Amino acid sequence: MKRPKAAVGFATWGWLRLALGLFGIGYPWTGFADDPKATGVPLPGHYVRVNDALRELGLRPSARMTPEGEQTFANTWRQIDFRHDSREVLIDGRRVFLGEGVHAQTGELWLSRVDVEKLLRPIVRPRAFAGSARPVQIIWIDAGHGGRDRGAHSDPLALSEKHIALDVSLRLGKILSAQGFEVRHTRTEDVYVDIGDRGEMSRAADLLVSIHFNAAGNPEARGTEVYALTPAGQPSTSDRSPSAGDYPVELGNTTDPWNALLGFAVHDAMIKRLGTVDRGLKRARFAVLRLTDVPAVLIEAGFLSHEAEAQEIASVDRRREIAESIADGIVDYVDLVLSLSPSP
Ligand SMILES: [Zn+2]
Repeated sequence: MKRPKAAVGFATWGWLRLALGLFGIGYPWTGFADDPKATGVPLPGHYVRVNDALRELGLRPSARMTPEGEQTFANTWRQIDFRHDSREVLIDGRRVFLGEGVHAQTGELWLSRVDVEKLLRPIVRPRAFAGSARPVQIIWIDAGHGGRDRGAHSDPLALSEKHIALDVSLRLGKILSAQGFEVRHTRTEDVYVDIGDRGEMSRAADLLVSIHFNAAGNPEARGTEVYALTPAGQPSTSDRSPSAGDYPVELGNTTDPWNALLGFAVHDAMIKRLGTVDRGLKRARFAVLRLTDVPAVLIEAGFLSHEAEAQEIASVDRRREIAESIADGIVDYVDLVLSLSPSP
């Protein structure tokens, strides 16, 4: 059995359990003696106790882990719900995807240290990253697709992603300009822009938001999802385990904590305002996110393949609401960064 390298606590437990086992003593105090969750495969060395990591972030367990392997941690400002064998957590009720699953072992939950440092710490304790906070003056808006690349589409409504992404982008630009930001666009008309150029262009700004709409083979799929760049070494949300391409540190990873924080702020604001199905804050290595060096998110605002959702998106009022919700999230993020910056 390969012992974890970093999780000293776990190694201790292992020896304790071995010693107790030799004397024929079980572990009734855990309540999980006969539960397969208590004796699963060894956890990777970079796994840490959720209890330790969250206490260090200032969150306390609301109760003991349930027999189903669920546990909630909270402080005055944040609540995080964890579940055994899941990559999904709820942060203040919003779905957020970890890079690696949470696992119950030795009667408590464990999670990847990478998820603590790249996701939970930025969201719960952004002040820890104040030294790299970048105030936002120039915002880059990237309308997805364009020209010969129409993206997703709804044939019944004659709706192309490239058109509505541009429409929402221009509306968002007007809202942000009116609030005093300098706004720049990848495109302001129906032209093709190479996918590799978009991230690079945005380096002239302080923040990047890329706007898309979704489509799926399943006509029932609907809702809003927001993507931040996957941290190095972790699998993206659509993959179960990391592959060779997941290990290099991309340029976009230089702003990992801010990507997570921006992603959470925008996702939270969109779900709050739009009331759409929460498909979660997810991770992906989209080129536009990899090739920028400023905090960045990619938004999939809704599904053109869902009849009712596509009909909503076809209305000007709904597209205005979508733009406003994105602006809300960006402003929340900008205000937070401002509060972390040392006053002049
Ligand atoms: Zn798209």
